[in-house]
Amino acid sequence: MSKLIEIDNDRLHSKNHVLFLFLDGVGLGNASAQYNPFMQVELPHLQALAGGYWLAERSRWSGERASFVPTDAGLGVAGKPQSATGQATLLTGQNIPQQLGYHWGPKPNAEIVHILQSDNLFMRLTRAGQTVRMANAYPQAYFDNIARGRRNYSAIPLALTAAGVPLPTTADLLAGTAFSADFTGQAWRAELGVPDAPLLTPQVAGVQLAKSAQQGGLLFFECWLTDYLGHRGTLSEAVQFLQVLDGVVAGLLEAWDDAHGLLVITADHGNLEDLSHKHHTENAVPTLLLGKHHAQFAQTVHDLADIASVVSQSLLELPSTN
Ligand SMILES: [Zn+2]
Repeated sequence: MSKLIEIDNDRLHSKNHVLFLFLDGVGLGNASAQYNPFMQVELPHLQALAGGYWLAERSRWSGERASFVPTDAGLGVAGKPQSATGQATLLTGQNIPQQLGYHWGPKPNAEIVHILQSDNLFMRLTRAGQTVRMANAYPQAYFDNIARGRRNYSAIPLALTAAGVPLPTTADLLAGTAFSADFTGQAWRAELGVPDAPLLTPQVAGVQLAKSAQQGGLLFFECWLTDYLGHRGTLSEAVQFLQVLDGVVAGLLEAWDDAHGLLVITADHGNLEDLSHKHHTENAVPTLLLGKHHAQFAQTVHDLADIASVVSQSLLELPSTN
Protein backbone atom coordinates (compact mmCIF):
# COMPACT_ATOMS: atom_id res chain seq x y z
CA MET A 1 0.00 0.00 0.00
CA SER A 2 2.66 2.52 1.00
CA LYS A 3 4.67 1.48 -2.06
CA LEU A 4 1.72 2.39 -4.27
CA ILE A 5 1.40 5.76 -2.60
CA GLU A 6 5.10 6.41 -3.18
CA ILE A 7 4.74 5.59 -6.85
CA ASP A 8 1.75 7.92 -7.09
CA ASN A 9 3.72 10.65 -5.40
CA ASP A 10 6.58 10.19 -7.83
CA ARG A 11 4.19 10.44 -10.75
CA LEU A 12 2.61 13.52 -9.28
CA HIS A 13 5.97 15.22 -9.01
CA SER A 14 7.16 14.14 -12.43
CA LYS A 15 4.34 15.85 -14.33
CA ASN A 16 5.37 18.64 -16.65
CA HIS A 17 4.29 21.94 -15.23
CA VAL A 18 4.55 25.66 -15.91
CA LEU A 19 3.91 28.55 -13.55
CA PHE A 20 3.29 31.74 -15.53
CA LEU A 21 3.90 34.62 -13.12
CA PHE A 22 2.65 37.60 -15.07
CA LEU A 23 3.80 41.01 -13.86
CA ASP A 24 1.66 43.84 -15.18
CA GLY A 25 3.58 47.02 -15.93
CA VAL A 26 7.17 46.02 -15.17
CA GLY A 27 9.86 47.17 -17.58
CA LEU A 28 13.62 47.40 -17.43
CA GLY A 29 14.68 50.83 -16.22
CA ASN A 30 17.79 52.89 -15.92
CA ALA A 31 20.47 52.24 -13.27
CA SER A 32 20.96 55.89 -12.44
CA ALA A 33 17.28 56.77 -12.32
CA GLN A 34 16.29 58.29 -9.04
CA TYR A 35 12.74 57.05 -9.60
CA ASN A 36 13.50 53.40 -10.34
CA PRO A 37 12.30 51.39 -7.30
CA PHE A 38 14.36 48.39 -8.47
CA MET A 39 17.47 50.45 -7.62
CA GLN A 40 16.29 51.71 -4.22
CA VAL A 41 16.67 48.51 -2.22
CA GLU A 42 18.46 45.14 -2.26
CA LEU A 43 16.29 42.50 -3.96
CA PRO A 44 18.64 39.51 -3.66
CA HIS A 45 16.31 36.82 -5.02
CA LEU A 46 15.06 38.84 -8.00
CA GLN A 47 18.72 39.52 -8.79
CA ALA A 48 19.76 35.88 -8.32
CA LEU A 49 17.05 34.82 -10.75
CA ALA A 50 18.21 37.38 -13.34
CA GLY A 51 21.97 37.12 -12.78
CA GLY A 52 22.06 40.81 -11.84
CA TYR A 53 19.89 43.91 -11.57
CA TRP A 54 16.67 44.18 -13.60
CA LEU A 55 17.94 46.93 -15.89
CA ALA A 56 17.61 48.11 -19.48
CA GLU A 57 21.36 47.97 -20.05
CA ARG A 58 21.49 44.23 -19.34
CA SER A 59 21.91 41.83 -22.21
CA ARG A 60 20.47 38.34 -22.22
CA TRP A 61 21.98 35.99 -19.64
CA SER A 62 21.78 32.30 -18.76
CA GLY A 63 22.96 30.81 -15.48
CA GLU A 64 22.72 27.26 -14.18
CA ARG A 65 19.08 27.47 -13.08
CA ALA A 66 17.64 30.47 -14.87
CA SER A 67 17.78 32.79 -17.88
CA PHE A 68 17.04 36.50 -18.27
CA VAL A 69 15.91 38.01 -21.58
CA PRO A 70 15.20 41.72 -22.15
CA THR A 71 12.01 41.43 -24.23
CA ASP A 72 10.58 43.90 -26.73
CA ALA A 73 7.07 45.09 -25.78
CA GLY A 74 6.75 47.78 -28.49
CA LEU A 75 6.27 45.15 -31.20
CA GLY A 76 7.11 47.53 -34.02
CA VAL A 77 4.13 49.79 -33.37
CA ALA A 78 4.58 53.44 -32.37
CA GLY A 79 3.29 54.70 -29.03
CA LYS A 80 3.24 53.42 -25.47
CA PRO A 81 2.41 49.71 -25.13
CA GLN A 82 -0.86 48.99 -23.32
CA SER A 83 -2.27 46.10 -21.31
CA ALA A 84 -5.00 44.70 -23.58
CA THR A 85 -2.82 44.40 -26.69
CA GLY A 86 0.27 43.35 -24.69
CA GLN A 87 -1.59 40.65 -22.75
CA ALA A 88 -3.39 39.47 -25.90
CA THR A 89 0.03 39.08 -27.55
CA LEU A 90 1.33 37.05 -24.59
CA LEU A 91 -1.81 34.89 -24.64
CA THR A 92 -1.98 34.23 -28.39
CA GLY A 93 1.61 34.32 -29.60
CA GLN A 94 0.50 36.76 -32.32
CA ASN A 95 1.71 40.34 -32.65
CA ILE A 96 -1.67 41.93 -31.87
CA PRO A 97 -0.55 45.62 -31.97
CA GLN A 98 0.87 45.01 -35.44
CA GLN A 99 -2.35 43.27 -36.61
CA LEU A 100 -4.50 46.11 -35.27
CA GLY A 101 -2.09 48.94 -36.02
CA TYR A 102 -2.23 50.32 -32.47
CA HIS A 103 -1.63 49.65 -28.77
CA TRP A 104 -4.83 49.46 -26.72
CA GLY A 105 -5.80 49.19 -23.06
CA PRO A 106 -6.38 48.68 -20.33
CA LYS A 107 -9.50 46.61 -21.19
CA PRO A 108 -9.89 44.77 -24.53
CA ASN A 109 -12.00 46.47 -27.22
CA ALA A 110 -14.37 44.43 -29.43
CA GLU A 111 -11.60 43.43 -31.84
CA ILE A 112 -9.36 42.15 -29.05
CA VAL A 113 -12.28 40.35 -27.38
CA HIS A 114 -12.93 38.58 -30.70
CA ILE A 115 -9.26 37.58 -31.09
CA LEU A 116 -9.01 36.22 -27.55
CA GLN A 117 -12.30 34.33 -27.74
CA SER A 118 -11.35 32.74 -31.09
CA ASP A 119 -8.05 31.26 -29.97
CA ASN A 120 -5.70 31.60 -27.03
CA LEU A 121 -3.01 29.69 -25.17
CA PHE A 122 -5.43 28.43 -22.51
CA MET A 123 -7.82 27.06 -25.19
CA ARG A 124 -4.94 25.33 -27.00
CA LEU A 125 -3.69 23.69 -23.81
CA THR A 126 -7.10 22.50 -22.61
CA ARG A 127 -7.87 21.10 -26.09
CA ALA A 128 -4.56 19.19 -25.88
CA GLY A 129 -5.67 17.65 -22.58
CA GLN A 130 -3.57 19.86 -20.31
CA THR A 131 -4.89 21.26 -17.06
CA VAL A 132 -5.02 25.05 -16.91
CA ARG A 133 -5.65 26.73 -13.56
CA MET A 134 -5.85 30.34 -12.43
CA ALA A 135 -4.00 31.01 -9.17
CA ASN A 136 -5.65 34.31 -8.19
CA ALA A 137 -8.83 34.36 -6.16
CA TYR A 138 -11.46 36.97 -7.12
CA PRO A 139 -13.75 38.60 -4.54
CA GLN A 140 -17.52 38.15 -4.83
CA ALA A 141 -17.96 41.83 -5.80
CA TYR A 142 -15.90 41.15 -8.93
CA PHE A 143 -18.27 38.40 -10.09
CA ASP A 144 -21.30 40.54 -9.17
CA ASN A 145 -20.01 43.50 -11.19
CA ILE A 146 -19.26 41.30 -14.21
CA ALA A 147 -22.76 39.76 -14.00
CA ARG A 148 -24.41 43.20 -13.80
CA GLY A 149 -22.41 44.57 -16.70
CA ARG A 150 -20.68 47.12 -14.48
CA ARG A 151 -17.31 45.68 -15.22
CA ASN A 152 -15.70 44.06 -18.28
CA TYR A 153 -13.13 41.31 -18.17
CA SER A 154 -9.53 42.28 -18.74
CA ALA A 155 -7.61 40.15 -21.25
CA ILE A 156 -6.48 37.38 -18.87
CA PRO A 157 -9.83 36.45 -17.23
CA LEU A 158 -11.46 36.85 -20.66
CA ALA A 159 -9.06 34.30 -22.18
CA LEU A 160 -9.50 31.96 -19.19
CA THR A 161 -13.29 32.01 -19.33
CA ALA A 162 -13.18 31.51 -23.13
CA ALA A 163 -11.23 28.31 -22.41
CA GLY A 164 -13.72 27.19 -19.75
CA VAL A 165 -11.22 27.70 -16.92
CA PRO A 166 -13.05 28.78 -13.74
CA LEU A 167 -11.93 31.89 -11.87
CA PRO A 168 -11.21 30.98 -8.22
CA THR A 169 -13.47 32.45 -5.55
CA THR A 170 -13.26 33.52 -1.91
CA ALA A 171 -14.00 29.89 -0.95
CA ASP A 172 -10.90 28.75 -2.87
CA LEU A 173 -8.79 31.39 -1.10
CA LEU A 174 -10.11 30.26 2.30
CA ALA A 175 -9.39 26.62 1.37
CA GLY A 176 -5.79 27.53 0.54
CA THR A 177 -6.12 26.47 -3.12
CA ALA A 178 -6.09 30.00 -4.56
CA PHE A 179 -3.92 33.03 -3.86
CA SER A 180 -4.33 36.69 -3.07
CA ALA A 181 -3.19 39.17 -5.73
CA ASP A 182 -0.92 40.76 -3.08
CA PHE A 183 0.54 37.28 -2.34
CA THR A 184 0.21 37.64 1.45
CA GLY A 185 -3.58 37.90 1.81
CA GLN A 186 -3.38 41.14 3.81
CA ALA A 187 -5.47 43.01 1.22
CA TRP A 188 -8.33 40.50 1.61
CA ARG A 189 -8.40 41.18 5.35
CA ALA A 190 -7.84 44.94 5.22
CA GLU A 191 -9.63 45.98 2.03
CA LEU A 192 -12.04 43.20 1.07
CA GLY A 193 -13.44 42.53 4.54
CA VAL A 194 -12.56 38.83 4.70
CA PRO A 195 -11.13 38.52 8.23
CA ASP A 196 -10.44 34.78 7.87
CA ALA A 197 -8.31 35.16 4.73
CA PRO A 198 -5.15 33.10 5.22
CA LEU A 199 -2.07 35.25 5.88
CA LEU A 200 1.10 34.02 4.22
CA THR A 201 4.61 35.36 4.37
CA PRO A 202 5.86 36.19 0.86
CA GLN A 203 8.30 33.27 1.05
CA VAL A 204 5.55 30.80 2.03
CA ALA A 205 3.37 32.16 -0.80
CA GLY A 206 6.24 31.38 -3.21
CA VAL A 207 6.62 27.84 -1.84
CA GLN A 208 2.87 27.24 -2.07
CA LEU A 209 2.72 28.58 -5.63
CA ALA A 210 5.53 26.17 -6.59
CA LYS A 211 3.74 23.25 -4.91
CA SER A 212 0.45 24.12 -6.54
CA ALA A 213 2.16 24.30 -9.95
CA GLN A 214 3.62 20.82 -9.35
CA GLN A 215 0.15 19.31 -9.70
CA GLY A 216 0.83 19.59 -13.45
CA GLY A 217 -0.24 21.69 -16.42
CA LEU A 218 -0.28 25.47 -16.42
CA LEU A 219 -0.85 27.59 -13.33
CA PHE A 220 -1.27 31.32 -14.11
CA PHE A 221 -0.77 34.13 -11.60
CA GLU A 222 -1.69 37.70 -12.53
CA CYS A 223 0.23 40.29 -10.51
CA TRP A 224 -1.60 43.54 -11.36
CA LEU A 225 -0.41 45.51 -8.33
CA THR A 226 2.86 46.36 -10.10
CA ASP A 227 1.00 48.33 -12.79
CA TYR A 228 -1.39 49.82 -10.23
CA LEU A 229 1.58 51.11 -8.20
CA GLY A 230 3.20 52.41 -11.41
CA HIS A 231 0.11 54.56 -12.02
CA ARG A 232 -0.89 55.47 -8.50
CA GLY A 233 1.78 54.44 -6.02
CA THR A 234 4.63 56.23 -4.30
CA LEU A 235 8.26 55.19 -4.58
CA SER A 236 8.20 53.76 -1.06
CA GLU A 237 5.00 51.75 -1.75
CA ALA A 238 6.65 50.38 -4.88
CA VAL A 239 9.81 49.43 -2.98
CA GLN A 240 7.73 47.74 -0.28
CA PHE A 241 5.87 45.64 -2.83
CA LEU A 242 9.10 44.71 -4.64
CA GLN A 243 10.38 43.38 -1.31
CA VAL A 244 7.26 41.20 -1.10
CA LEU A 245 7.89 40.01 -4.66
CA ASP A 246 11.52 39.26 -3.75
CA GLY A 247 10.29 37.09 -0.87
CA VAL A 248 7.90 35.24 -3.19
CA VAL A 249 10.79 34.56 -5.57
CA ALA A 250 12.85 33.29 -2.59
CA GLY A 251 10.12 30.70 -1.94
CA LEU A 252 9.91 29.81 -5.64
CA LEU A 253 13.69 29.32 -5.87
CA GLU A 254 13.56 27.10 -2.79
CA ALA A 255 10.67 24.84 -3.84
CA TRP A 256 10.88 24.80 -7.64
CA ASP A 257 11.27 21.38 -9.33
CA ASP A 258 13.77 22.32 -12.06
CA ALA A 259 13.67 18.87 -13.67
CA HIS A 260 9.96 18.97 -14.52
CA GLY A 261 8.83 22.56 -14.21
CA LEU A 262 9.39 25.83 -16.04
CA LEU A 263 8.71 29.11 -14.25
CA VAL A 264 7.96 31.93 -16.69
CA ILE A 265 7.98 35.49 -15.37
CA THR A 266 7.23 38.24 -17.86
CA ALA A 267 5.32 41.51 -18.30
CA ASP A 268 3.15 43.29 -20.86
CA HIS A 269 4.82 46.74 -20.82
CA GLY A 270 6.91 48.99 -18.63
CA ASN A 271 5.60 51.31 -15.91
CA LEU A 272 6.80 50.60 -12.36
CA GLU A 273 10.50 50.97 -13.25
CA ASP A 274 10.09 54.71 -13.86
CA LEU A 275 8.08 56.55 -11.22
CA SER A 276 9.16 59.99 -12.46
CA HIS A 277 5.73 59.91 -14.17
CA LYS A 278 2.52 57.91 -13.79
CA HIS A 279 2.31 56.41 -17.29
CA HIS A 280 3.53 53.35 -19.14
CA THR A 281 7.04 53.36 -20.61
CA GLU A 282 8.41 52.12 -23.91
CA ASN A 283 11.13 50.11 -22.17
CA ALA A 284 11.81 46.44 -22.84
CA VAL A 285 10.32 44.10 -20.25
CA PRO A 286 12.06 41.30 -18.35
CA THR A 287 11.45 37.67 -19.25
CA LEU A 288 12.79 35.25 -16.64
CA LEU A 289 12.79 31.51 -17.13
CA LEU A 290 13.68 29.11 -14.30
CA GLY A 291 13.98 25.34 -14.57
CA LYS A 292 13.37 22.86 -17.33
CA HIS A 293 15.24 23.75 -20.57
CA HIS A 294 15.33 27.44 -19.55
CA ALA A 295 18.39 28.28 -21.65
CA GLN A 296 17.07 26.67 -24.87
CA PHE A 297 13.69 28.36 -24.45
CA ALA A 298 15.35 31.71 -23.67
CA GLN A 299 17.06 31.65 -27.07
CA THR A 300 13.63 31.68 -28.74
CA VAL A 301 12.42 34.80 -26.89
CA HIS A 302 12.77 38.24 -28.51
CA ASP A 303 9.39 39.92 -28.06
CA LEU A 304 6.05 39.34 -26.31
CA ALA A 305 4.76 37.21 -29.19
CA ASP A 306 7.39 34.53 -28.38
CA ILE A 307 6.14 33.64 -24.89
CA ALA A 308 3.03 31.56 -25.67
CA SER A 309 5.00 28.96 -27.62
CA VAL A 310 7.54 28.62 -24.79
CA VAL A 311 4.66 27.71 -22.45
CA SER A 312 2.95 25.31 -24.85
CA GLN A 313 6.17 23.61 -25.97
CA SER A 314 7.27 23.14 -22.38
CA LEU A 315 3.99 21.36 -21.56
CA LEU A 316 3.26 19.51 -24.79
CA GLU A 317 6.67 18.10 -25.69
CA LEU A 318 6.94 14.31 -25.53
CA PRO A 319 8.44 12.89 -22.34
CA SER A 320 12.14 12.18 -22.55
CA THR A 321 12.98 8.50 -23.07
CA ASN A 322 16.31 8.44 -21.22
ZN1 LIG B 1 -1.33 50.43 -16.87
